[in-house]
Amino acid sequence: MASTAAEVHHLPATPSTPHHTLLQHALSLARLCPRSTTAFSVGALLVSPTTSAIISDGYSRELPGNTHAEECCLRKFYGTVAAARTAATGVKQLEPKDVDYQDGQVSALFEGYGGEWELDLYTTMVPCSKRMSGLRTCLDRIIEASKVTSPDGKKLIKRVFCGCGEDDRFVKEGNWAEGVLRDAGIEVWWVGGLESECRGVAEMWLEKKTDKPTAAKQEGGFDGKSVEASGAGAGEMPM
Ligand SMILES: [Zn+2]
Repeated sequence: MASTAAEVHHLPATPSTPHHTLLQHALSLARLCPRSTTAFSVGALLVSPTTSAIISDGYSRELPGNTHAEECCLRKFYGTVAAARTAATGVKQLEPKDVDYQDGQVSALFEGYGGEWELDLYTTMVPCSKRMSGLRTCLDRIIEASKVTSPDGKKLIKRVFCGCGEDDRFVKEGNWAEGVLRDAGIEVWWVGGLESECRGVAEMWLEKKTDKPTAAKQEGGFDGKSVEASGAGAGEMPM
C-alpha cells in the first residue's frame, strides 16, 4: 500500500552517529564469515531502539548450511524467544537452529512476548531480494518478522540500516529490497561513509572484487561495474 510506505533516509558520513558505530560492529562480525568464493560476507545486528542494546547478531554462514547474516540474526533471536517461551510455559518450543520457522509459526512464537518491539536491524549489505540457490531470502524473512505485531499494533522490526547496496554479480535483476521494505512500512536507512568498507568485507572471499568501488550512490543500488561471478570452489553452494 503506497499510502503507508515508510520513508528512506540517508545518513551522511559525518557526523558519526550511534548508527555508524553499530554498523561498524556489524562489520566486525562480517569479518568472521567462513570462507566462500560464491557468496558475500555480511554481518547483521538486531538492536533495541531505546537502549541500543544488541538483542541478536549474525553473520553469513554462521549457522549450519548456506545461511545469510540477517537469517542467522533472526533465527538466533527466535531461539532466545523460544527458550523463554519454553521456560514460561513448560512446553518445549521448536528451536530455530533445528527448524526454520515459516509464516504463522513466527507469529505464534511471539504470543505473550514480553520483550521490546520496533527493533532496528543493521546489516552491512542491503537484505537479499533473490537468491540463486532458490533459498528463502532475507527480505522475505524481514517482511515475515514485520507481520508480527504487538497488541497495540507495533511492528517487531521498524527500521533497517544498510551499509552498502548489492551489485548484480549474482542476481542480474539487481536488488529490490528497499521498495518492498518501504511498502511493508519499514524505514530504510542508508548509513553513509561505510559503503566501501562494507563492500570490501562483503567481497573478501570472492575471487573477483569490484573493480570500481564507489561511495557515491546509496540509493539501494550500486553503480560499480558488473563483475562476472567467479568460479565456484569445490563443494561450495551458490549464495
Ligand atoms: Zn540474505
